Amino acid sequence: MAEKEKEKKESERIKEELGINAETAWEKLEEGEQKKVWKLGDEYKQFLASAKTEREIVAWSIREIEKHGFKPLEKSNLKPGDKAWVHNKHKNLALLLMGKNGLENGLRVIVSHVDALRLDWKINPFYEDSGMALINLHYYGGIKKYHWVNTPLSLHGVVFLKDGKKLEINLGEKEEEPVFVISDLLPHVGIKAFLEKKASELIPGESLDAIGATIPLKEKDATEKIKLRLLKLLHEKYGLVEEDFFTAELQLLPAVKPKDIGFDGSLIGGYGHDDRACSFAGLKSILDVTGTPEHTCLLLFMDKEEIGSVGATGADSFFLENFVHELCTKLGTQKTAKKVLAEAYFISADVTAALDPKYKEFFDPANSSMVGYGVSIEKETGYGGKYDSSQASAEYMSFIRKLFNENKVVWQTGELGKVDEGGGGTVAKFFARYGCEIIDIGPPVLAMHSPFEVLSKVDLYQTYKAYKVFFESK
Ligand code: MN
Ligand code: MN
Repeated sequence: MAEKEKEKKESERIKEELGINAETAWEKLEEGEQKKVWKLGDEYKQFLASAKTEREIVAWSIREIEKHGFKPLEKSNLKPGDKAWVHNKHKNLALLLMGKNGLENGLRVIVSHVDALRLDWKINPFYEDSGMALINLHYYGGIKKYHWVNTPLSLHGVVFLKDGKKLEINLGEKEEEPVFVISDLLPHVGIKAFLEKKASELIPGESLDAIGATIPLKEKDATEKIKLRLLKLLHEKYGLVEEDFFTAELQLLPAVKPKDIGFDGSLIGGYGHDDRACSFAGLKSILDVTGTPEHTCLLLFMDKEEIGSVGATGADSFFLENFVHELCTKLGTQKTAKKVLAEAYFISADVTAALDPKYKEFFDPANSSMVGYGVSIEKETGYGGKYDSSQASAEYMSFIRKLFNENKVVWQTGELGKVDEGGGGTVAKFFARYGCEIIDIGPPVLAMHSPFEVLSKVDLYQTYKAYKVFFESK
């Protein structure tokens, strides 16, 4: 027994020496902080439930920030302490809090993404087969397709009618509203395929089609009567005709409500922690900055991260540079937008994979983040031999460590899985092109990219704290 105790003590000492945190973030909470953890968790659940697409998040955030004194950019004088916002195509948002140093002496930028995994409607969505009208879907982002069958889905999006009128659709979130589902095969048939196919081939992309309706139109000579009746229903309810799906952005996404998880309610299960946890923490932190910060703070919501940050609203676009250029012109700065961005400090605010004790073989335990151990700082992302990665400099790592330690932010560090077991990217590499300092910081998430991801409340809290002290940093 005494021997065992000694061994335990020795391993604790080694851990301490190596800087491996033996204590969870729960144990490291300061007096009175526990309450703040629960409160933030509740606010986050509300946010997750009220805004589920990039468009909805941008609209929700604008309503929220206007209550806190943020004005549209054109109405702002950009004096220290001023707060302004712009959106881009309803899918990006930039929030600006002017600091004492203006624009030219080091921006503090936090960038998260507001798009999430989902099932987009195809442009010709409906077909009829075997007693059903089905909705043709095209998955968005890196999903494990088998996660998305037999789970309730709600419909979100916009449609432009023939006269150009914009219609916003939201169906399946309220208790009394119907939801949608993609039916999978029962275990009794297709046994051979089930046993022999690879998991990645089990559900072909073209099989991800949801049930739309099953009642036919009462019309003797018509073909595709179920589809016809469905179209008639949609016309009556929304004024839609079939061609309007050509001018639509519709998605099916998990109809789940965010819920506390576990006997102790320490975790939150929900759709889209990736990356709404960081978007929420970012928003909350810029609203909570004490007084006028030293450096100008910028919070950015990007889109299309899950499909490579491409397109007019992705991090690969010139949205940020154009925005900063506009600021430079307004303020008549000496420096160009590119130079201002080169001198900025960035946090790429994104979630990371949490070590799952059931699948340890795919992680390097000493270099993985764990649920409940605080916000995770990731020096690099990428895959294999660090391909496609943006690597934070040791100098910047040192700045971040000092900042977090001085402000009692509970943090951990890690990589996303074992070296040869996959990997992933974030928006970091796109902004790193300016030559700025940039690093990935966000909470670890279990079951990432599934319809019901799992996040620890204490990690969310530490993420919020980390972003806030970053915005307030000198
Ligand atoms: Mn992400
Ligand atoms: Mn992702």
